[in-house]
Amino acid sequence: MLVSENPCLALAADFTPEGFLPWRDALTSVISKRAYVVEEYDASVASPSRRFRLPAIIARRSQSATLHRPAAFTRANVFLAYSVLVPDGRARPRRAAWKCALCGEIEHDMSALTFEHVVPRSRGGLSTWSNIALAHASCNHKKGARTLAEAGLTLHVPLRRPTNRDLATLRLRTQFPTPPQAWRTYLDLVYWTSPIDP
Ligand SMILES: [Zn+2]
Repeated sequence: MLVSENPCLALAADFTPEGFLPWRDALTSVISKRAYVVEEYDASVASPSRRFRLPAIIARRSQSATLHRPAAFTRANVFLAYSVLVPDGRARPRRAAWKCALCGEIEHDMSALTFEHVVPRSRGGLSTWSNIALAHASCNHKKGARTLAEAGLTLHVPLRRPTNRDLATLRLRTQFPTPPQAWRTYLDLVYWTSPIDP
């Protein structure tokens, strides 16, 4: 048995998927009573005094105060919020990519994308969820300091204003395109497994 192959799904107190933990951290949360076990794997580990089944899913005893709040506007969160999963051969069936908001093409290289201010900064547009999309540097440059209407463009990607919960789900889905069987009841599998229309 490879215990490293048994990641544990962490649910918030309201059973919202929150992230995953290595089994060791999951056991620590359970032993310290910060969380309880919802499902176990068949695999187990032994300490000198006890044998523990590996937790497949744990739920936290107290609700995170921030889970349903708007996500912080950071570069990492923007790239996560706008990521899409695209087919990528057999070894890793899907991987994250992005769609340029201005030309609509899929881009695999994060470094080719820039923050596109929908209302240009020179017109008072802010760097906030309600004004930022991802676009190729070249597309961004072509639009320049014009509005979408002035440039004759429409956004190919709706602006996103995710909560921390939305980002937790996106992060999990990127990390586990094919989730462990034990998790499936707790994930929105329709969303999880549906092909993404890029
Ligand atoms: Zn583009």
